Amino acid sequence: MDYQGIIIRPPSEADSLILQITVGCSHNKCTFCPTYKGVNFKLKDQAIIDNDIDVASRRFGNFVRRVFLCDGDVLILKTEYLLNLFSKLRRAFPHLQRIGLYGNAKSILRKTLDELVMLKENGLGIVYLGVESGNDEVLKRVKKGVTGKQMLEAGKRILEAGIKLSVTVLLGIGGKELSKIHAIDTGKLLTEMQPNYVGALTVMVIEGTPLYNEQRAGKFVLPSPFELLEELKVMIENTDLKSGLFMANHASNYLPLKIRMPKDKRHALDLLDKVILERNSDYLKPEYFRAL
Ligand code: SF4
Repeated sequence: MDYQGIIIRPPSEADSLILQITVGCSHNKCTFCPTYKGVNFKLKDQAIIDNDIDVASRRFGNFVRRVFLCDGDVLILKTEYLLNLFSKLRRAFPHLQRIGLYGNAKSILRKTLDELVMLKENGLGIVYLGVESGNDEVLKRVKKGVTGKQMLEAGKRILEAGIKLSVTVLLGIGGKELSKIHAIDTGKLLTEMQPNYVGALTVMVIEGTPLYNEQRAGKFVLPSPFELLEELKVMIENTDLKSGLFMANHASNYLPLKIRMPKDKRHALDLLDKVILERNSDYLKPEYFRAL
């Protein structure tokens, strides 16, 4: 299999066949993101992709149930191209149940509802969308390239097409200054969007990113671990999901939580209250165990 550069995938795609279709990220401007810095976004040569499908099909064609297409934002590719690719995948993997990919809000909005429905009918089962924040000022500062309204519209269009939607939000991304409004607006956006899964990660400031330079210049101040828990608490308070999972158990988080909405919400808030009140760092994941 041909893998170029850093390969990332959502934790829930751990058992999927990972097939690299594009290299890099079509946006590649988010100030906090180190993943594809210096990499020019491109579609891989068709011969390489076809060979990967062929190799995987011969080796474990009958075992593949899920395929995850990377890198960042395969959804930016033309619908016709994707339909053709999905049809090859269905032929190569007769028991294929779900195709997943990353899609950013701009790419989703470039597709009509009819196109998304067609993709769903041809195998697209889940889209992973990096929401990061529901607050426009935060989105502008981190150069996400869309507003909260556009993010909401994109998420809703995926759901309307019958495709599952998994979103990530970033604790700490508003810094100390915008922490509370980031938490409130993100919770409100999630409530309006009603995604199937929410993953709350905690921002880690990585050397070489614009956010790192802002931090060094004193323009960005990361909230403390307990302030991040307060932020998480406010975000959950403002998030009303009719169903689905709100997961804050990523390796970057200080206090792992997995909340089945709506039934576990009260319990999670009580736990956060207790930890915040006691300020006991024994509850927190040590810094050396945290990772992206
Ligand atoms: S966070 Fe996502 S959209 Fe932003 S640069 Fe990184 S991969 Fe691209």
